[in-house]
Amino acid sequence: MPLRCVSSEGDELSFEHNANSWADLRERNSRDRHLKFACCDAGVILKTSSLGTRYFAHKARRGCDIAPETQEHLRAKTIICKALKEAGWVATPEYRMMDAEGACIADVLGQRAAGSSKGIAFEVQWSPQLAETTRARTARYTEHGLRSLWLMKRPMPLNSKEVPVARLVACGEGFDVYIPNEALVRGAEYLNIKELADLAASWRRCGTLAEFTRGVVEGRFRFGLAKDFEIHVTVAGVANWCYSCGAEKQPATSIVLALGYLNPDFPDILIEIHELGEVEGSLAERILESINKRLPRIGGYTLAQRKAKASQVTYLANVCTCGAFLSRSYIPYRSQEDRTLLEFDLKTTAEEVAPFYKSLDRWCFIDRENPPLKATIGMHGFPANTFLPLSTSGSSTDAPLRKVRYVGYSD
Ligand SMILES: [Zn+2]
Ligand SMILES: [Zn+2]
Repeated sequence: MPLRCVSSEGDELSFEHNANSWADLRERNSRDRHLKFACCDAGVILKTSSLGTRYFAHKARRGCDIAPETQEHLRAKTIICKALKEAGWVATPEYRMMDAEGACIADVLGQRAAGSSKGIAFEVQWSPQLAETTRARTARYTEHGLRSLWLMKRPMPLNSKEVPVARLVACGEGFDVYIPNEALVRGAEYLNIKELADLAASWRRCGTLAEFTRGVVEGRFRFGLAKDFEIHVTVAGVANWCYSCGAEKQPATSIVLALGYLNPDFPDILIEIHELGEVEGSLAERILESINKRLPRIGGYTLAQRKAKASQVTYLANVCTCGAFLSRSYIPYRSQEDRTLLEFDLKTTAEEVAPFYKSLDRWCFIDRENPPLKATIGMHGFPANTFLPLSTSGSSTDAPLRKVRYVGYSD
C-alpha cells in the first residue's frame, strides 16, 4: 500500500494531495490508467484509509512481492513525508535500491536536495523485528550511503551510534516519539519486559512524529556528548557557625554539573566537595577557581586541601578566614536543608568533562522549549538523591552543624 506511484509525468505522491486533487486524480486514472507501480504491472487504484491516509493500492496483488502494510504504517510514513517536505527536504516514500541481495526498499528516503548522494532512510517498524535483522538492514542502507532511523512500535532499547532506534506510540490521529531515558540506557539488561515498556519510567518523549522528524533534519537528534558546550554549575551549601571563631557561615557541601542544552539526555552529575578535590584535570581546577572567587564573600569559607589530624587524610575542605577548617565528617549528606550558594556557567568540552563522568553515550534530542526531566547521578554512576529544587540562600537561624556522618572522631 504505497504512498508513491509513477506516471509518464514522474512520481505521484499521495501525501501531496488534498481531498479535491485526490478525487481529480482518481477520475483521471480510471479514465486514462496513467498511474503505474515501480514494483509490478498491477493497475493502480486510489484509496483512503480509515485513519484518513490517502494511498495507492494494487488492483490485483498477484505477481507482486511487496508486503501489504498496516494502516498505522501508512499513516506514519505519510506524517514523515509531510514533515520532511515542510522542512524543505525531499521525501521519497518506498525508495527502491538494488544491490547483490536484490531490491531493498526504504520506507521513506529523506534528502536535503533532490539527487543528493546522501540521505536518511526512515524505517517504520510496526511488526516485531529481531535486533540482528535491524542491524543487517541498517548495514545494507549504509552500503548505499544512507543513514538509518528506526521508528519502532516495540520497545527496543538498542543504544548505538550505528543503529538509531526510537519508539513510536500511537496517540490520537498520529504518533509520539520516545527515546530511552537514563534508567533504560543504564539498566536495560536488568529490566523486565513490563519495566522496559513503561513509558513514564523508562522513556522520554521527543514530541510528535512530525516534530521529531523536523528535529532530525535540523540535526537536533544526535549521538554522544557535544564537542564543545556550556555547563551550568550549582554549588549547594548549608548554614552554620564556625566552631572556632563563631562567625555565621555557609560551607559548600556539593556541586551539580548540568551538561547544558546540547546534551539534554545526559543526567546531571552530583559531586561532593571532598570528591571535587579528587578529580583530576583542568575542569576540576577551573570549577574550584570559580568557587573560590565567590565563596569567601557568600559563605565565609575558601576551599583548600587540608589534612585531618585524626585520620591523616588530605581532602578538599571548607577553610574559615580564621584558619579553622570544617572536617569532612561535619559535612551533611545532601538534604532539604541544602541551599544554592552560587551558580555559574563554564565553557567546556567532552574531554574535559570525562574525569567527572564515565559517560554512557546515547542519543539525545535537542528541543530547548521542551527539555526532558533530568536524572541526577553521582560521580560513580549511581542515581543520586537530590532533593531539588534547593532553597535560595537566606540569612540563617540554623544551629552549628552537628557531626552528622560518622560516629566517633574518624577524621
Ligand atoms: Zn507491486
Ligand atoms: Zn572561623
